[in-house]
Amino acid sequence: MASPDGLPPLRAVIDAHGLSPKKSLGQNFLLDLNLTGRIARQALPFDNVTVVEVGPGPGGLTRALLAEGAGRVVAIEKDPRCIAALEEIAAHHSGRLDIVAADALTVDLAGLAAGGRIKIVANLPYNVGTQLLLNWLTPPDWPPAWESLTLMFQKEVAERIVAAPGTDHYGRLSVLAGWRARAKILFDVSPAAFTPPPKVTSSIVHIVPREAPEPAALAKLETVTAAAFGQRRKMLRQSLKSLGGEQLLTSVGIDPQRRAETLSVSEFVALANAV
Ligand code: SAM
Repeated sequence: MASPDGLPPLRAVIDAHGLSPKKSLGQNFLLDLNLTGRIARQALPFDNVTVVEVGPGPGGLTRALLAEGAGRVVAIEKDPRCIAALEEIAAHHSGRLDIVAADALTVDLAGLAAGGRIKIVANLPYNVGTQLLLNWLTPPDWPPAWESLTLMFQKEVAERIVAAPGTDHYGRLSVLAGWRARAKILFDVSPAAFTPPPKVTSSIVHIVPREAPEPAALAKLETVTAAAFGQRRKMLRQSLKSLGGEQLLTSVGIDPQRRAETLSVSEFVALANAV
């Protein structure tokens, strides 16, 4: 029986194209159209937007994005086995789905929409998810080419992205994300929702860029957070010793006895500007 969008059920697509999931590509597929629809709706509205999906796989989320009204979806997939399955979706939704057979780590986002608006929606492969997010948070120019990210991560990674100072998950990723964007966890997705089920719970995170992050040189911010969180249990006068230690900290009014996890994003920015 066909699905509501008139295409074959995802299990039939997977069988027809021999898409047995590969762990090396982080392939945990979502086959529940209610769930893919719910994820797609978190990124609405889709007016005049190019939706970029990373890792469409057999196309469950892709189909949901099209069903929710995305006028143009660009789907970037590294696994050549999935391309024929995706071409069937493209043929069904004539002119609305472009397939890019490539490694998303190498794709220039801005080039995909020719200066137009972009929203990124993805059930990310876990092995490259954090690196992709880092790439999207650190383009050469800001504001970035994208206006929102709606992404599935392992829950533990999602918690690190949104963590506030003073909490266990607060670290380098939280500072970078908090500096450049506003991020929140929307809902969790149980392992049972995936084929095959992963070992851990996942979470959908929604991220929007800050128009004007506090001015700081990215490389210096990364140097400071790497040193501070590299020895997160130590006092900052010790962990930042090679960058100026006590003198650096007092120059920006930070008590040298504090630890990395207590510093706000603004305090990290102040340190980066003083290094
Ligand atoms: N979107 C599908 C879904 O929700 O069922 C599949 C999600 S699965 C977690 C991750 C997908 O990303 C797989 O289709 C995998 O082949 C693809 N992938 C893995 N590494 C990739 C990369 N570097 N660039 C693009 N796609 C990649």
